[in-house]
Amino acid sequence: MTFDQLALSEPILRALKHEGYTNPTPIQSQAIPELLQGKDILASAQTGTGKTAAFVIPILEKISTTRPAKKGYRPVRGLILTPTRELALQIEQSIRAYGRYTNVRYTAIYGGVKQNRQVDAVRRGADIIVATPGRLLDLVGQGLIDLSGIQHFVLDEADRMLDMGFINDIRRIIRELPERRQSLFFSATLPRDIVTLSKEILQEPVRVSV
Ligand code: AMP
Repeated sequence: MTFDQLALSEPILRALKHEGYTNPTPIQSQAIPELLQGKDILASAQTGTGKTAAFVIPILEKISTTRPAKKGYRPVRGLILTPTRELALQIEQSIRAYGRYTNVRYTAIYGGVKQNRQVDAVRRGADIIVATPGRLLDLVGQGLIDLSGIQHFVLDEADRMLDMGFINDIRRIIRELPERRQSLFFSATLPRDIVTLSKEILQEPVRVSV
């Protein structure tokens, strides 16, 4: 299979060519068509399988080709939660690469640095936010980020998030999201507590395992 067979728009296909990608990896060829149809997904995939592109590409495609459901100045429409600053920056890098020919705006939100620049980036208008849970909740609590317009929500490395003690933060963040949304759940492993959490988040998910 090639990316051209995946019903993606020209700017995304061009960016993938620019990256030198021709064929989707197994997680990408299984997940992308389902995600483009708006389905929820429960995916077990390790790092190195191409999982980042598997969630970034469909979100970029949807956001660049549709209008926000919520009125107002450029509401945040995509939220990707990830456990660490390094992962947040890596995912932001992927959005930059695959979205280079779209007009989608994005920013990373993580702790350990001053919040000013992150807040400014959100104020200028971000369609997608990649965030670690603590700093995101902090900014939401200060009224600086509004999550009520989220249409696509990704929980990345869910098992690591739980190991790091983020469960309560995750639940608090989910309460800020609209009920009507697409949710994507990625985890390297699927022990019982992860499956339980996934049931709180997902609606009739497609299961993908690589
Ligand atoms: P990940 O599993 O998301 O950490 O991705 C692993 C690596 O594979 C990254 O360096 C990506 O740039 C690369 N990659 C992702 N998808 C593809 C693809 N379809 N073809 C070639 N390389 C890819």
